Amino acid sequence: MIDCIFCKIIRGEIPSERLYEDETTFAFLDIKPLNDGHTLVVPKTHYENIFDAAPGALDAVMRIVQKLAPVIRDTVGAAGMNVNSNHGTAAGQLVPHLHIHLIPRFADDGYRHWHRETPTTPLAEVRQRITDAIYVAEK
Ligand code: 5GP
Ligand code: ZN
Repeated sequence: MIDCIFCKIIRGEIPSERLYEDETTFAFLDIKPLNDGHTLVVPKTHYENIFDAAPGALDAVMRIVQKLAPVIRDTVGAAGMNVNSNHGTAAGQLVPHLHIHLIPRFADDGYRHWHRETPTTPLAEVRQRITDAIYVAEK
């Protein structure tokens, strides 16, 4: 049995405010919400994130993300929503069980949008390195 906080929530060993559940997917309110309605949608199978997830594992999760997002947005009266997933500790992932955040957003909620910079490396160079890697990976 995996010692993972989200696996325990899915199994009902840790209580959660469950919004939705089916055979493959579980959705519940984040315990420290950025705004009311902040939801986490997770696969019932334990994957750390998409770097180790089985091909296709996100499909069912994203179908539920699309189903729940407008309902949550309209219920809390939000103007928009961040649909986000942190991958790796450097990106802010605290819980190593794949999860999608649905974060209702309001025009005046005070949270910042991403801060954008002019590129340090020319975009064409970055594109070349990544496309080279894609085509190597496909061989
Ligand atoms: P991460 O930083 O890994 O992308 O986000 C993990 C999220 O899980 C955080 O927003 C955190 O508040 C939430 N979280 C951590 N532990 C629990 C828990 O026991 N119950 C619930 N409902 N949410 C949790
Ligand atoms: Zn887990």
